[in-house]
Amino acid sequence: PLPIDIYPNRRNSLGVDLAHPPEFEELTEKLAYWRADHPVARPTLMANVEHEKIEVRAPQSGKVVGHQVMASERDVDLALARATAAQPMWDALGGQARADLLIKASDLLEENMPRFMDLCRREAGKTMMDGVLEVREAVDFLRYYACEARMLFGAPQPLPGPTGEQNLLRLHGRGVFATISPWNFPLAIFMGPAAAALAAGNTVVAKPAEQTPLIAALAIDLCHEAGIPKDVLQLLPGDGKVGAALTSDPRVTGVAFTGSTGTAHAINRSLAARPGAIGTLIAETGGMNAMVVDSSALPEQVTRDVVASAFQSAGQRCSALRVLYLQDDVADEMLEMIKGAFKALVIGDPANLETDVGPVIDAEAREKLQDHVQEMIDAGFPVWRRSMPTDCENGHFFSPTIIEIGSILDLDEEQFGPILHVCRYPAGGLGKVLDDINSTGYGLTLGLHSRIDETRRFVEARAKVGNFYVNRNQIGAVVGSQPFGGEGLSGTGPKAGGPHYVTRFATERVTTIDT
Ligand code: NAP
Repeated sequence: PLPIDIYPNRRNSLGVDLAHPPEFEELTEKLAYWRADHPVARPTLMANVEHEKIEVRAPQSGKVVGHQVMASERDVDLALARATAAQPMWDALGGQARADLLIKASDLLEENMPRFMDLCRREAGKTMMDGVLEVREAVDFLRYYACEARMLFGAPQPLPGPTGEQNLLRLHGRGVFATISPWNFPLAIFMGPAAAALAAGNTVVAKPAEQTPLIAALAIDLCHEAGIPKDVLQLLPGDGKVGAALTSDPRVTGVAFTGSTGTAHAINRSLAARPGAIGTLIAETGGMNAMVVDSSALPEQVTRDVVASAFQSAGQRCSALRVLYLQDDVADEMLEMIKGAFKALVIGDPANLETDVGPVIDAEAREKLQDHVQEMIDAGFPVWRRSMPTDCENGHFFSPTIIEIGSILDLDEEQFGPILHVCRYPAGGLGKVLDDINSTGYGLTLGLHSRIDETRRFVEARAKVGNFYVNRNQIGAVVGSQPFGGEGLSGTGPKAGGPHYVTRFATERVTTIDT
Protein backbone atom coordinates (compact mmCIF):
# COMPACT_ATOMS: atom_id res chain seq x y z
CA PRO A 1 0.00 0.00 0.00
CA LEU A 2 1.05 3.60 -0.62
CA PRO A 3 2.16 5.39 2.55
CA ILE A 4 -0.41 7.99 3.59
CA ASP A 5 -0.19 10.42 6.43
CA ILE A 6 -2.82 9.49 8.97
CA TYR A 7 -3.51 13.22 9.20
CA PRO A 8 -3.65 14.41 5.55
CA ASN A 9 -4.12 18.06 6.54
CA ARG A 10 -1.05 18.09 8.74
CA ARG A 11 2.01 19.88 7.36
CA ASN A 12 5.51 19.71 8.82
CA SER A 13 7.25 23.05 9.26
CA LEU A 14 9.20 24.27 6.22
CA GLY A 15 11.94 25.93 8.29
CA VAL A 16 14.38 28.31 6.61
CA ASP A 17 16.46 27.60 3.52
CA LEU A 18 19.95 28.72 4.58
CA ALA A 19 21.21 28.26 1.00
CA HIS A 20 18.68 30.79 -0.39
CA PRO A 21 20.34 34.26 -0.16
CA PRO A 22 17.23 36.47 0.38
CA GLU A 23 15.89 34.12 3.07
CA PHE A 24 19.30 33.89 4.69
CA GLU A 25 19.79 37.68 4.72
CA GLU A 26 16.40 38.26 6.31
CA LEU A 27 17.22 35.65 8.94
CA THR A 28 20.65 37.19 9.65
CA GLU A 29 19.04 40.58 10.29
CA LYS A 30 16.57 39.07 12.73
CA LEU A 31 19.30 37.08 14.48
CA ALA A 32 21.34 40.28 14.92
CA TYR A 33 18.32 41.94 16.52
CA TRP A 34 18.09 39.29 19.27
CA ARG A 35 21.83 38.92 19.91
CA ALA A 36 21.90 41.40 22.84
CA ASP A 37 18.78 40.01 24.50
CA HIS A 38 19.27 38.94 28.13
CA PRO A 39 16.37 36.63 29.01
CA VAL A 40 15.44 35.36 32.47
CA ALA A 41 13.78 32.00 33.13
CA ARG A 42 11.67 31.80 36.26
CA PRO A 43 8.96 29.49 37.66
CA THR A 44 5.58 30.30 36.10
CA LEU A 45 4.08 30.66 39.59
CA MET A 46 6.47 31.84 42.28
CA ALA A 47 6.05 31.18 46.00
CA ASN A 48 6.76 34.07 48.32
CA VAL A 49 10.27 32.95 49.31
CA GLU A 50 13.80 34.01 48.43
CA HIS A 51 15.02 32.50 45.15
CA GLU A 52 18.50 31.58 44.02
CA LYS A 53 19.41 33.23 40.70
CA ILE A 54 22.17 31.76 38.55
CA GLU A 55 23.86 32.72 35.32
CA VAL A 56 23.41 30.84 32.06
CA ARG A 57 26.58 30.93 29.96
CA ALA A 58 27.31 30.22 26.28
CA PRO A 59 29.28 26.98 25.86
CA GLN A 60 31.37 28.45 23.01
CA SER A 61 32.52 31.59 24.81
CA GLY A 62 31.60 31.48 28.50
CA LYS A 63 29.69 34.77 28.03
CA VAL A 64 26.58 35.28 30.14
CA VAL A 65 23.45 34.76 28.00
CA GLY A 66 20.81 35.24 30.68
CA HIS A 67 19.75 34.15 34.15
CA GLN A 68 17.56 31.50 35.66
CA VAL A 69 15.61 31.76 38.88
CA MET A 70 15.83 28.33 40.46
CA ALA A 71 12.57 26.76 41.64
CA SER A 72 12.39 26.28 45.41
CA GLU A 73 10.62 23.46 47.27
CA ARG A 74 7.70 25.84 47.82
CA ASP A 75 7.46 26.49 44.07
CA VAL A 76 7.25 22.75 43.41
CA ASP A 77 4.43 22.48 45.93
CA LEU A 78 2.59 25.50 44.52
CA ALA A 79 2.99 24.26 40.93
CA LEU A 80 1.58 20.84 41.76
CA ALA A 81 -1.32 22.24 43.78
CA ARG A 82 -2.37 24.52 40.91
CA ALA A 83 -1.79 21.87 38.22
CA THR A 84 -3.89 19.35 40.19
CA ALA A 85 -6.74 21.82 40.62
CA ALA A 86 -6.73 22.84 36.95
CA GLN A 87 -6.63 19.34 35.45
CA PRO A 88 -10.37 18.45 35.44
CA MET A 89 -11.18 21.70 33.60
CA TRP A 90 -8.45 21.08 30.99
CA ASP A 91 -9.56 17.47 30.50
CA ALA A 92 -13.22 18.51 30.15
CA LEU A 93 -12.31 21.12 27.51
CA GLY A 94 -12.07 18.29 24.97
CA GLY A 95 -9.65 17.37 22.23
CA GLN A 96 -10.79 19.93 19.64
CA ALA A 97 -10.32 22.96 21.90
CA ARG A 98 -6.98 21.71 23.18
CA ALA A 99 -5.84 21.09 19.60
CA ASP A 100 -6.75 24.66 18.60
CA LEU A 101 -4.55 26.01 21.38
CA LEU A 102 -1.65 23.70 20.46
CA ILE A 103 -1.89 24.77 16.80
CA LYS A 104 -1.85 28.43 17.84
CA ALA A 105 1.23 27.73 19.96
CA SER A 106 2.94 25.96 17.03
CA ASP A 107 2.34 29.00 14.80
CA LEU A 108 3.84 31.32 17.41
CA LEU A 109 6.89 29.08 17.80
CA GLU A 110 7.37 29.03 14.03
CA GLU A 111 7.01 32.82 13.76
CA ASN A 112 9.70 33.15 16.43
CA MET A 113 12.17 30.86 14.68
CA PRO A 114 15.00 33.48 14.51
CA ARG A 115 14.66 34.23 18.22
CA PHE A 116 14.85 30.53 19.07
CA MET A 117 17.77 30.03 16.69
CA ASP A 118 19.63 32.84 18.41
CA LEU A 119 19.05 31.21 21.81
CA CYS A 120 19.87 27.73 20.48
CA ARG A 121 23.23 29.12 19.43
CA ARG A 122 24.00 31.23 22.47
CA GLU A 123 22.58 28.96 25.16
CA ALA A 124 23.17 25.48 23.71
CA GLY A 125 26.04 26.10 21.23
CA LYS A 126 23.95 24.88 18.27
CA THR A 127 24.98 25.58 14.68
CA MET A 128 22.62 27.51 12.40
CA MET A 129 21.40 24.35 10.68
CA ASP A 130 20.82 22.56 13.99
CA GLY A 131 18.87 25.61 15.19
CA VAL A 132 16.52 25.44 12.18
CA LEU A 133 16.01 21.70 12.66
CA GLU A 134 15.35 22.16 16.36
CA VAL A 135 12.54 24.68 15.84
CA ARG A 136 11.00 22.69 13.00
CA GLU A 137 10.85 19.55 15.11
CA ALA A 138 9.19 21.36 18.01
CA VAL A 139 6.57 22.85 15.67
CA ASP A 140 6.00 19.45 14.06
CA PHE A 141 5.45 17.79 17.45
CA LEU A 142 2.87 20.40 18.44
CA ARG A 143 0.95 19.99 15.17
CA TYR A 144 1.09 16.21 15.19
CA TYR A 145 -0.15 15.91 18.76
CA ALA A 146 -2.84 18.50 18.05
CA CYS A 147 -4.12 16.17 15.30
CA GLU A 148 -4.09 13.32 17.81
CA ALA A 149 -6.06 15.41 20.31
CA ARG A 150 -8.75 16.07 17.68
CA MET A 151 -8.90 12.51 16.46
CA LEU A 152 -8.71 10.58 19.73
CA PHE A 153 -10.26 12.87 22.32
CA GLY A 154 -13.46 13.87 20.57
CA ALA A 155 -16.68 11.83 20.57
CA PRO A 156 -16.57 8.55 22.52
CA GLN A 157 -15.99 5.36 20.57
CA PRO A 158 -19.06 3.05 20.57
CA LEU A 159 -18.22 -0.61 21.20
CA PRO A 160 -20.38 -3.65 20.41
CA GLY A 161 -22.64 -5.37 22.96
CA PRO A 162 -25.91 -7.35 23.14
CA THR A 163 -29.19 -5.69 22.13
CA GLY A 164 -30.16 -3.13 24.73
CA GLU A 165 -26.62 -2.44 25.90
CA GLN A 166 -24.59 0.61 24.95
CA ASN A 167 -20.81 0.65 25.46
CA LEU A 168 -18.78 3.83 25.13
CA LEU A 169 -15.01 4.13 25.35
CA ARG A 170 -13.46 7.50 26.18
CA LEU A 171 -9.86 8.63 26.61
CA HIS A 172 -8.98 11.04 29.42
CA GLY A 173 -5.86 12.66 30.78
CA ARG A 174 -4.15 10.76 33.59
CA GLY A 175 -3.76 13.87 35.77
CA VAL A 176 -0.57 15.91 36.24
CA PHE A 177 2.47 15.09 34.14
CA ALA A 178 6.00 16.11 35.06
CA THR A 179 8.07 16.48 31.90
CA ILE A 180 11.81 16.37 32.47
CA SER A 181 14.06 17.11 29.52
CA PRO A 182 17.74 17.20 28.48
CA TRP A 183 19.82 20.09 27.12
CA ASN A 184 20.66 18.53 23.75
CA PHE A 185 17.23 19.27 22.22
CA PRO A 186 16.32 22.21 24.44
CA LEU A 187 13.22 23.14 22.44
CA ALA A 188 12.05 20.04 20.55
CA ILE A 189 12.35 17.56 23.41
CA PHE A 190 11.26 20.13 25.96
CA MET A 191 8.10 20.91 23.96
CA GLY A 192 7.28 17.47 22.46
CA PRO A 193 6.39 15.48 25.59
CA ALA A 194 4.68 18.52 27.16
CA ALA A 195 2.52 18.94 24.03
CA ALA A 196 1.58 15.25 24.03
CA ALA A 197 0.61 15.38 27.70
CA LEU A 198 -1.48 18.51 27.10
CA ALA A 199 -3.14 16.99 24.03
CA ALA A 200 -4.27 14.04 26.14
CA GLY A 201 -5.87 16.26 28.78
CA ASN A 202 -3.15 16.39 31.43
CA THR A 203 -1.77 19.46 33.08
CA VAL A 204 1.99 19.79 32.85
CA VAL A 205 4.82 20.91 35.08
CA ALA A 206 7.89 21.11 32.86
CA LYS A 207 11.47 21.01 34.15
CA PRO A 208 14.04 21.89 31.50
CA ALA A 209 17.72 20.96 31.77
CA GLU A 210 19.71 23.21 34.06
CA GLN A 211 21.92 24.25 31.12
CA THR A 212 19.08 25.41 28.81
CA PRO A 213 16.20 27.04 30.75
CA LEU A 214 16.01 30.21 28.58
CA ILE A 215 14.82 28.48 25.40
CA ALA A 216 12.27 26.61 27.53
CA ALA A 217 11.05 29.85 29.14
CA LEU A 218 10.47 31.48 25.75
CA ALA A 219 8.53 28.41 24.55
CA ILE A 220 6.32 28.45 27.66
CA ASP A 221 5.65 32.21 27.30
CA LEU A 222 4.51 31.66 23.71
CA CYS A 223 2.24 28.78 24.76
CA HIS A 224 0.63 31.07 27.33
CA GLU A 225 0.31 33.79 24.69
CA ALA A 226 -1.48 31.20 22.53
CA GLY A 227 -4.07 30.81 25.29
CA ILE A 228 -2.92 27.75 27.23
CA PRO A 229 -3.67 28.71 30.85
CA LYS A 230 -0.78 29.26 33.24
CA ASP A 231 -2.02 26.66 35.73
CA VAL A 232 -2.22 24.11 32.91
CA LEU A 233 1.35 24.48 31.66
CA GLN A 234 4.02 25.60 34.09
CA LEU A 235 7.77 26.01 33.93
CA LEU A 236 9.97 24.98 36.86
CA PRO A 237 13.61 25.84 36.13
CA GLY A 238 16.07 24.05 38.35
CA ASP A 239 18.55 21.24 38.69
CA GLY A 240 18.10 17.49 39.18
CA LYS A 241 16.81 18.10 42.73
CA VAL A 242 13.74 19.85 41.33
CA GLY A 243 13.21 16.87 39.00
CA ALA A 244 13.54 14.48 41.93
CA ALA A 245 11.12 16.55 44.06
CA LEU A 246 8.54 16.31 41.27
CA THR A 247 8.87 12.59 40.68
CA SER A 248 8.66 11.73 44.38
CA ASP A 249 5.41 13.70 44.84
CA PRO A 250 2.26 11.53 44.66
CA ARG A 251 0.33 14.36 42.97
CA VAL A 252 2.37 13.63 39.82
CA THR A 253 0.51 10.87 38.01
CA GLY A 254 2.96 10.49 35.15
CA VAL A 255 6.50 11.40 34.19
CA ALA A 256 7.74 11.90 30.65
CA PHE A 257 11.51 11.85 30.91
CA THR A 258 14.23 12.17 28.28
CA GLY A 259 17.85 11.90 29.35
CA SER A 260 20.38 9.37 30.51
CA THR A 261 19.53 5.77 31.33
CA GLY A 262 20.90 6.23 34.87
CA THR A 263 18.50 9.07 35.64
CA ALA A 264 15.59 7.06 34.18
CA HIS A 265 16.40 4.25 36.63
CA ALA A 266 16.48 6.75 39.52
CA ILE A 267 13.07 8.15 38.51
CA ASN A 268 11.63 4.65 38.16
CA ARG A 269 12.74 3.84 41.72
CA SER A 270 11.34 7.10 43.00
CA LEU A 271 7.94 6.49 41.35
CA ALA A 272 7.84 2.98 42.82
CA ALA A 273 8.70 4.18 46.34
CA ARG A 274 5.95 6.83 46.61
CA PRO A 275 2.72 6.20 48.45
CA GLY A 276 -0.52 6.21 46.47
CA ALA A 277 -1.23 5.37 42.86
CA ILE A 278 1.46 3.83 40.67
CA GLY A 279 2.89 6.53 38.43
CA THR A 280 3.36 6.11 34.68
CA LEU A 281 6.89 6.50 33.34
CA ILE A 282 7.63 7.26 29.71
CA ALA A 283 11.41 7.33 29.34
CA GLU A 284 13.55 8.04 26.29
CA THR A 285 17.17 7.41 27.11
CA GLY A 286 20.65 6.82 25.74
CA GLY A 287 22.10 4.55 23.06
CA MET A 288 25.25 2.74 21.93
CA ASN A 289 24.37 3.18 18.29
CA ALA A 290 26.20 1.24 15.61
CA MET A 291 26.40 1.29 11.82
CA VAL A 292 27.40 -1.75 9.77
CA VAL A 293 29.01 -1.31 6.36
CA ASP A 294 29.55 -4.29 4.06
CA SER A 295 31.62 -4.60 0.90
CA SER A 296 28.66 -3.81 -1.39
CA ALA A 297 28.23 -0.30 0.06
CA LEU A 298 29.00 2.87 -1.91
CA PRO A 299 32.12 4.44 -0.31
CA GLU A 300 31.21 8.11 -0.99
CA GLN A 301 27.74 7.64 0.45
CA VAL A 302 29.13 5.82 3.49
CA THR A 303 31.64 8.60 4.11
CA ARG A 304 29.00 11.32 3.97
CA ASP A 305 26.58 9.43 6.22
CA VAL A 306 29.19 8.34 8.77
CA VAL A 307 30.49 11.88 9.19
CA ALA A 308 26.99 13.34 9.56
CA SER A 309 25.85 10.60 11.96
CA ALA A 310 28.91 10.81 14.20
CA PHE A 311 29.86 14.50 14.19
CA GLN A 312 26.80 16.64 13.41
CA SER A 313 25.63 18.50 16.54
CA ALA A 314 29.11 17.67 17.96
CA GLY A 315 27.86 14.10 18.41
CA GLN A 316 25.39 15.28 21.05
CA ARG A 317 22.39 13.47 19.63
CA CYS A 318 20.97 10.38 21.28
CA SER A 319 20.72 8.83 17.79
CA ALA A 320 24.36 9.61 16.89
CA LEU A 321 26.67 6.94 15.55
CA ARG A 322 29.12 5.69 18.20
CA VAL A 323 30.49 2.44 16.73
CA LEU A 324 31.12 1.85 13.04
CA TYR A 325 31.62 -1.74 11.83
CA LEU A 326 33.49 -2.00 8.51
CA GLN A 327 33.76 -5.28 6.64
CA ASP A 328 37.45 -6.31 6.56
CA ASP A 329 38.03 -6.25 2.81
CA VAL A 330 36.86 -2.63 2.39
CA ALA A 331 37.84 -1.29 5.82
CA ASP A 332 41.16 0.34 4.89
CA GLU A 333 39.73 2.16 1.88
CA MET A 334 36.60 3.30 3.76
CA LEU A 335 38.55 4.43 6.80
CA GLU A 336 40.91 6.52 4.65
CA MET A 337 37.94 8.25 3.02
CA ILE A 338 36.24 8.85 6.36
CA LYS A 339 39.44 10.31 7.79
CA GLY A 340 39.68 12.60 4.74
CA ALA A 341 36.18 13.98 5.35
CA PHE A 342 36.89 14.16 9.09
CA LYS A 343 39.95 16.36 8.40
CA ALA A 344 37.72 18.74 6.42
CA LEU A 345 35.23 19.32 9.25
CA VAL A 346 35.09 22.99 10.29
CA ILE A 347 35.24 23.32 14.07
CA GLY A 348 34.37 26.63 15.65
CA ASP A 349 31.86 29.29 16.58
CA PRO A 350 28.34 28.06 15.78
CA ALA A 351 27.46 31.61 14.65
CA ASN A 352 29.42 30.99 11.43
CA LEU A 353 27.36 29.35 8.74
CA GLU A 354 30.28 27.16 7.64
CA THR A 355 30.80 25.63 11.11
CA ASP A 356 30.19 21.86 11.17
CA VAL A 357 31.14 21.12 14.78
CA GLY A 358 30.39 23.54 17.61
CA PRO A 359 31.18 23.16 21.31
CA VAL A 360 29.99 20.49 23.72
CA ILE A 361 27.58 21.69 26.36
CA ASP A 362 29.85 22.30 29.37
CA ALA A 363 33.20 21.65 31.06
CA GLU A 364 31.92 18.48 32.73
CA ALA A 365 30.88 16.98 29.37
CA ARG A 366 34.25 17.85 27.85
CA GLU A 367 36.18 16.29 30.75
CA LYS A 368 34.18 13.08 30.56
CA LEU A 369 34.97 12.75 26.84
CA GLN A 370 38.61 13.59 27.48
CA ASP A 371 38.85 10.90 30.20
CA HIS A 372 37.41 8.34 27.79
CA VAL A 373 39.94 9.19 25.06
CA GLN A 374 42.78 8.94 27.58
CA GLU A 375 41.54 5.53 28.75
CA MET A 376 41.45 4.32 25.15
CA ILE A 377 44.98 5.62 24.51
CA ASP A 378 46.18 3.91 27.72
CA ALA A 379 44.56 0.67 26.55
CA GLY A 380 46.60 0.87 23.35
CA PHE A 381 43.83 1.59 20.82
CA PRO A 382 44.87 3.77 17.82
CA VAL A 383 43.40 7.29 18.09
CA TRP A 384 43.10 10.12 15.51
CA ARG A 385 42.20 13.60 16.69
CA ARG A 386 41.58 16.90 14.95
CA SER A 387 43.73 19.82 16.00
CA MET A 388 41.71 22.59 17.61
CA PRO A 389 41.54 26.07 16.00
CA THR A 390 42.98 28.82 18.23
CA ASP A 391 39.66 30.72 18.42
CA CYS A 392 38.15 27.76 20.29
CA GLU A 393 40.27 28.30 23.39
CA ASN A 394 37.62 30.08 25.48
CA GLY A 395 34.84 27.59 24.94
CA HIS A 396 34.00 23.99 25.77
CA PHE A 397 35.23 22.59 22.47
CA PHE A 398 36.20 18.97 22.12
CA SER A 399 38.33 17.86 19.22
CA PRO A 400 36.49 15.33 16.97
CA THR A 401 38.11 11.94 17.48
CA ILE A 402 38.24 8.54 15.76
CA ILE A 403 39.31 5.49 17.79
CA GLU A 404 39.89 2.05 16.33
CA ILE A 405 38.71 -0.67 18.73
CA GLY A 406 38.11 -4.45 18.62
CA SER A 407 34.34 -4.47 19.07
CA ILE A 408 31.46 -2.62 20.75
CA LEU A 409 32.19 -4.79 23.81
CA ASP A 410 35.35 -2.70 24.43
CA LEU A 411 33.05 0.16 25.49
CA ASP A 412 31.12 0.23 28.72
CA GLU A 413 28.87 3.26 28.24
CA GLU A 414 27.57 5.87 25.81
CA GLN A 415 30.08 8.65 25.05
CA PHE A 416 27.97 11.71 24.37
CA GLY A 417 30.12 13.77 22.00
CA PRO A 418 32.09 13.79 18.73
CA ILE A 419 33.89 10.45 19.15
CA LEU A 420 33.58 7.74 16.51
CA HIS A 421 34.77 4.22 17.35
CA VAL A 422 35.62 1.99 14.39
CA CYS A 423 35.99 -1.79 14.26
CA ARG A 424 36.41 -4.41 11.55
CA TYR A 425 34.48 -7.62 10.97
CA PRO A 426 35.13 -10.55 8.63
CA ALA A 427 32.87 -11.52 5.71
CA GLY A 428 30.35 -13.98 7.17
CA GLY A 429 30.69 -12.38 10.63
CA LEU A 430 27.55 -10.26 10.54
CA GLY A 431 25.60 -12.50 12.92
CA LYS A 432 28.26 -12.13 15.62
CA VAL A 433 28.38 -8.34 15.08
CA LEU A 434 24.62 -8.08 15.65
CA ASP A 435 24.77 -10.34 18.71
CA ASP A 436 27.48 -8.09 20.18
CA ILE A 437 25.44 -4.96 19.46
CA ASN A 438 22.31 -6.52 20.99
CA SER A 439 24.27 -7.69 24.03
CA THR A 440 24.90 -4.09 25.15
CA GLY A 441 21.21 -3.95 26.07
CA TYR A 442 20.77 -0.58 24.31
CA GLY A 443 18.46 -0.41 21.31
CA LEU A 444 18.07 3.08 19.89
CA THR A 445 19.39 3.46 16.32
CA LEU A 446 21.25 1.18 13.92
CA GLY A 447 22.61 2.05 10.48
CA LEU A 448 23.32 -0.34 7.63
CA HIS A 449 25.08 0.38 4.35
CA SER A 450 24.58 -2.55 2.00
CA ARG A 451 23.14 -3.05 -1.48
CA ILE A 452 22.16 -6.65 -0.73
CA ASP A 453 18.45 -7.07 0.13
CA GLU A 454 19.06 -10.35 1.91
CA THR A 455 21.54 -8.64 4.23
CA ARG A 456 19.03 -5.90 5.02
CA ARG A 457 16.35 -8.47 5.82
CA PHE A 458 18.79 -10.44 8.01
CA VAL A 459 19.76 -7.34 10.01
CA GLU A 460 16.15 -6.12 10.26
CA ALA A 461 15.06 -9.47 11.70
CA ARG A 462 17.92 -9.78 14.18
CA ALA A 463 18.58 -6.25 15.48
CA LYS A 464 16.81 -5.11 18.61
CA VAL A 465 16.58 -1.39 17.88
CA GLY A 466 13.87 1.21 17.67
CA ASN A 467 15.07 2.98 14.50
CA PHE A 468 16.88 1.16 11.69
CA TYR A 469 18.33 3.29 8.85
CA VAL A 470 19.47 1.74 5.57
CA ASN A 471 21.85 3.47 3.14
CA ARG A 472 21.51 6.88 4.78
CA ASN A 473 22.59 8.67 7.94
CA GLN A 474 20.98 7.63 11.21
CA ILE A 475 20.06 11.01 12.71
CA GLY A 476 17.26 13.52 12.24
CA ALA A 477 14.05 11.51 12.59
CA VAL A 478 11.11 13.39 11.07
CA VAL A 479 7.83 13.65 12.98
CA GLY A 480 5.12 11.52 11.39
CA SER A 481 7.60 9.75 9.06
CA GLN A 482 10.14 8.23 11.44
CA PRO A 483 8.51 7.97 14.88
CA PHE A 484 11.51 7.91 17.20
CA GLY A 485 12.50 5.95 20.30
CA GLY A 486 14.33 2.90 21.48
CA GLU A 487 13.93 -0.26 23.50
CA GLY A 488 15.80 -2.01 26.32
CA LEU A 489 18.19 0.41 28.05
CA SER A 490 17.25 3.05 25.46
CA GLY A 491 13.73 3.64 26.66
CA THR A 492 10.25 2.45 27.43
CA GLY A 493 8.61 3.58 24.19
CA PRO A 494 6.19 4.65 22.76
CA LYS A 495 7.78 6.49 19.86
CA ALA A 496 7.78 10.28 19.81
CA GLY A 497 6.11 11.73 16.72
CA GLY A 498 4.23 8.50 16.03
CA PRO A 499 0.63 7.28 16.25
CA HIS A 500 0.98 5.44 19.58
CA TYR A 501 2.58 8.23 21.61
CA VAL A 502 -0.27 10.41 22.87
CA THR A 503 -2.43 7.51 24.01
CA ARG A 504 0.27 6.53 26.54
CA PHE A 505 -0.42 9.84 28.28
CA ALA A 506 -4.10 8.94 28.58
CA THR A 507 -6.26 6.62 30.59
CA GLU A 508 -9.30 4.78 29.19
CA ARG A 509 -12.79 4.81 30.68
CA VAL A 510 -15.75 2.73 29.52
CA THR A 511 -19.38 3.51 30.26
CA THR A 512 -21.92 0.69 29.86
CA ILE A 513 -25.61 1.64 29.74
CA ASP A 514 -28.48 -0.84 29.83
CA THR A 515 -31.10 0.95 27.71
P1 NAP B 1 20.42 13.61 32.39
O1 NAP B 1 21.63 13.98 33.14
O2 NAP B 1 19.81 12.30 32.69
O3 NAP B 1 19.38 14.80 32.64
C1 NAP B 1 18.11 14.84 32.02
C2 NAP B 1 17.15 15.64 32.88
O4 NAP B 1 16.89 14.95 34.12
C3 NAP B 1 17.69 17.01 33.29
O5 NAP B 1 16.63 17.93 33.26
C4 NAP B 1 18.18 16.74 34.70
O6 NAP B 1 18.32 17.88 35.51
C5 NAP B 1 17.10 15.83 35.22
N1 NAP B 1 17.48 15.03 36.40
C6 NAP B 1 18.71 14.71 36.85
N2 NAP B 1 18.61 13.92 37.95
C7 NAP B 1 17.30 13.74 38.20
C8 NAP B 1 16.55 13.01 39.18
N3 NAP B 1 17.15 12.30 40.13
N4 NAP B 1 15.21 13.04 39.13
C9 NAP B 1 14.56 13.72 38.14
N5 NAP B 1 15.22 14.45 37.20
C10 NAP B 1 16.56 14.44 37.21
O7 NAP B 1 20.69 13.63 30.81
P2 NAP B 1 21.43 14.75 29.98
O8 NAP B 1 22.89 14.64 30.20
O9 NAP B 1 20.79 16.07 30.20
O10 NAP B 1 21.08 14.32 28.47
C11 NAP B 1 21.86 13.48 27.70
C12 NAP B 1 21.28 12.06 27.68
O11 NAP B 1 19.97 12.10 27.13
C13 NAP B 1 22.04 11.10 26.79
O12 NAP B 1 22.15 9.86 27.44
C14 NAP B 1 21.16 10.97 25.56
O13 NAP B 1 21.36 9.77 24.83
C15 NAP B 1 19.80 11.07 26.16
N6 NAP B 1 18.79 11.48 25.18
C16 NAP B 1 17.89 10.55 24.73
C17 NAP B 1 16.95 10.89 23.76
C18 NAP B 1 15.96 9.89 23.21
O14 NAP B 1 15.03 10.30 22.53
N7 NAP B 1 16.12 8.61 23.47
C19 NAP B 1 16.93 12.20 23.26
C20 NAP B 1 17.84 13.12 23.75
C21 NAP B 1 18.77 12.75 24.72
P3 NAP B 1 19.71 18.72 35.39
O15 NAP B 1 19.53 19.60 34.27
O16 NAP B 1 19.91 19.42 36.63
O17 NAP B 1 20.80 17.72 35.17
